[in-house]
Amino acid sequence: MPLVSAEKFVKAARENGYAVGGFNTNNLEWTQAILRAAESKKAPVLIQTSMGAAKYMGGYKVARNLIANLVESMNITVPVAIHLDHGHYEDSLECIEAGYTSIMFDGSHLPVEENLAKAREVVELAHSKGISVEAEVGTIGGEEDGIVGKGELAPIEDAIAMVETGIDFLAAGIGNIHGPYPENWEGLDLDHLKKLTEAVPGFPIVLHGGSGIPDEQIQEAIRLGVAKVNVNTEGQIAFANATREFSRAYDADEAGYDKKKLFDPRKFLAPGIKAVQDAVEDRIDVFGSANKA
Ligand SMILES: [Zn+2]
Repeated sequence: MPLVSAEKFVKAARENGYAVGGFNTNNLEWTQAILRAAESKKAPVLIQTSMGAAKYMGGYKVARNLIANLVESMNITVPVAIHLDHGHYEDSLECIEAGYTSIMFDGSHLPVEENLAKAREVVELAHSKGISVEAEVGTIGGEEDGIVGKGELAPIEDAIAMVETGIDFLAAGIGNIHGPYPENWEGLDLDHLKKLTEAVPGFPIVLHGGSGIPDEQIQEAIRLGVAKVNVNTEGQIAFANATREFSRAYDADEAGYDKKKLFDPRKFLAPGIKAVQDAVEDRIDVFGSANKA
């Protein structure tokens, strides 16, 4: 299946009461793990790069072509969108040129009027090429690529104005945070989410910072109108833990590993990458998007 815009499958998720995953990738193996999970679960997915991850991979064209080529060579049959996560204005334009099929323009650090004006420009250009657009109002707590926020709740009137720019799905703070959740986190503000979805009826909402929110809160948020959940930290932690455990068991001579071969990166990375695939499959089940391709 060729790459697609995320517009149709995110809308279908909103209409049918489930959510699709927006999974961040970092490299070739990570992308393979996400694609294997999506294919085995028959789930539509967005594979996302942050600005920083794309830079790490060698730039937007490299990231875009790597994902696109794997979709083809792995004979992936489920719908896949290549999505820019938290892009500045210039990066959004660059990804539209590079062949991404979905863009998040994040102008949440700008004054509201400027955020709205730039979102309108990105929508016009992206939609002329069949590319879906996500934008953000308010800020989402934590830190992602230098965009820092305090975790406020998105102002409802800003959310309405942003939806009117013509975007396809909306990221809005509802007490969620990027990265691991602190001990004293008070949970999602589901009352605020309810007010938000009542103000923009039927419009798909995106939940950022999906890693570490209790599953029942995520599922309640999906019932209320969340149709895309972003997952980044969860995959990273799964990878790091499995790799550490592999290394520890090897050093302790516990698992009977062939020590002659452990310098081979294909062997060394395998347990961590399998853990990423398992984590993605688990999230797809929680979000309800298995067998929705
Ligand atoms: Zn985010």
